[in-house]
Amino acid sequence: MVVKDLRRSQQAVTATAASCAGASAATWYRSTATDAPTYSELTGTLDVDVAIVGGGHTGVATALELCERGSSVALLERGRIGDGATGRNGGQVTGSLSGLAAMRKQLTKNLGQGAADELIQALRWEAQTLIRERVRRYGIQCGLRTGHLHTAWRPDDIDDLKRDLDSAFKAGLEDKVQWLDREQVHERLETPLYHGGVLNHHNLHLNSLALCIGEAQAAAQLGAVLHEHSEVLSIDDAKSSARAQVRTRAGAVRAETVILAGNAYHQLRRSHFRGRMFPAVLGNLATVPLDDDTLNAINPERLAVYDSRLVLDYYRITEDNRLLFGGGTNYSGRDLHDVATKLLPRLERTFPRLKRVPIEFAWTGLAGIVPNRIPLVGRLKGGLIYAQGYSGHGIATSHLVARAIADALHDEPHTFDMLTALHHPRLPGGQATLTTAMLLAVGSDHAKSLIQKLKLGK
Ligand SMILES: Cc1cc2nc3c(=O)[nH]c(=O)nc-3n(C[C@H](O)[C@H](O)[C@H](O)COP(=O)(O)OP(=O)(O)OC[C@H]3O[C@@H](n4cnc5c(N)ncnc54)[C@H](O)[C@@H]3O)c2cc1C
Repeated sequence: MVVKDLRRSQQAVTATAASCAGASAATWYRSTATDAPTYSELTGTLDVDVAIVGGGHTGVATALELCERGSSVALLERGRIGDGATGRNGGQVTGSLSGLAAMRKQLTKNLGQGAADELIQALRWEAQTLIRERVRRYGIQCGLRTGHLHTAWRPDDIDDLKRDLDSAFKAGLEDKVQWLDREQVHERLETPLYHGGVLNHHNLHLNSLALCIGEAQAAAQLGAVLHEHSEVLSIDDAKSSARAQVRTRAGAVRAETVILAGNAYHQLRRSHFRGRMFPAVLGNLATVPLDDDTLNAINPERLAVYDSRLVLDYYRITEDNRLLFGGGTNYSGRDLHDVATKLLPRLERTFPRLKRVPIEFAWTGLAGIVPNRIPLVGRLKGGLIYAQGYSGHGIATSHLVARAIADALHDEPHTFDMLTALHHPRLPGGQATLTTAMLLAVGSDHAKSLIQKLKLGK
C-alpha cells in the first residue's frame, strides 16, 4: 500500500460544490468498496410505481423500504451508489437530531406535547435499531460498532448534555447511556480536551458507504432496478392523463411518484428549495492504519466521538484501524481548499500522541443545511416527493424518513404528514446570508441565541 503524507502532497480540492461528487476515488470509503456491484446506465424507457433520483441513504433506504412493501422501483444515480454525502461522512449514527428545538416548538404547536415528544423520541432513537436489524437481516458487512461519546467542549456545555442524557433515559435507554465526568472521559480518550460527556451504547458507528451499498444490493434482490451513471436531467410532472417522467441522457422512467433524493448534490426544482437549503462543505481525514498499542492508548474502547460545539470535530476508529477525523464546516458552499492542512492541527490537538501521523486520505463532501435545521421533507405538484437537508446528521434521519415515505405510499401517512407539515422559513439573501449568520454564530459564545435572533428557530 502506498502511503502518502498529505501534509506535503495534498491535492487541491476542487472549487465547486458539484465537483465533490466526482472525486470518489480519493475517499477512504471508496477504497474499501472494491467489490461493490456496478449497475449499468439507464437506456430505454421503464414503467414503475416509484422513480427515485439519487443513490445515497435517502434514495437507497427508500427503495429498499418500498420493495419490502411490494412496490416496483427504479433508482437513478448520477455517479456510483453512495457517491454523495453518504460515501463521505463521519459514519456516526446518533440520536442528535438537527433542528430539535425548532422542531419541538412546531410539533407541539401542531400536535400537542404528547405527540410531539413521541415523534421526536422516535426520530432520535429508532434508527439505531432499524439499521442494526437491517444489517443483520441482509448480512451487510459495514464494520458496525456500538459506542459513542458526546463530549463537553466547555464546562458550560455540561448542563445541556445532561439534559440530553435525561431524554435518553426517558426513551428507556438507562442501561445503555451514562454520564462520564472529566476523569472518566480521559480514561477512555488520551486527550487534553473535554470536561465530561455522554457515553451512549445505543448509538452506532459504521462504514456508511458499505451500509448503502449493502442496502442497494438488498433492494436489487427484492426487484429494484438500479442504474448508475444515470443523471436525471429533467422531470415532467404527472398530469391527469400521464404519469410523471424522469429523463436521463439515454433513457426515461415513467412513474406514479418521483422521489427527489439528491440532497445537496442535485439542481432539480431549485426554485422551490432556494433559501430553504444550502450546501455546506465538510472535510474528513483518514490516517494510515494504526497499531493496537496506539489504538489502545488513544481510544481503547474504539468509541466514536463528537464534541458539543456548533461546528464540531468528530472522529472514530474504522474497521481497518484508522482514525477517521472530520470537521471544519464551510457554510460558504465553496470547497475546503486544503482539507488536510485545516484538519491536521485539530487532530493533533485532540491526540498529541498522533503528531505527524501519516494521513492517507483527505476528502470533502456536501451536507444539505436547512436554516432552522429541520429536515426538508415534502410534496411538490406533479407526483414529486422530496427528502433532504439533514444538516449533518443524516444517517439516522434519512433511514427514518425513508420509512415514513414508504409508509405514506402504502396508505400509512401519519409520520410523513407530520414531517411535511413542518415549516421552513425561506432565508432571504441566500447563501451569503447563511454564511454570515453561521460565521457570526460560530465565532461567538452565543451561537444558538444568535440563530434565534435571526428567526431561524421558528
Ligand atoms: C463530510 C460529512 C460528514 C458527515 N458526517 C455525518 C455523520 O457522522 N453522521 C451523520 O448522521 N451524518 C453525517 N453527515 C450527513 C450525512 O452523510 C447525510 O445527511 C446523508 O448521507 C444524506 O444522504 P442522502 O442520500 O440524502 O444524500 P447524498 O448521500 O448526498 O446522496 C445524494 C445522491 O444523489 C445523487 N444525485 C444528485 N443529483 C442527481 C441527479 N440529477 N440524478 C441522479 N442522481 C443525482 C448524488 O450523486 C448523490 O449520490 C455528514 C456529511 C458530510 C458531507
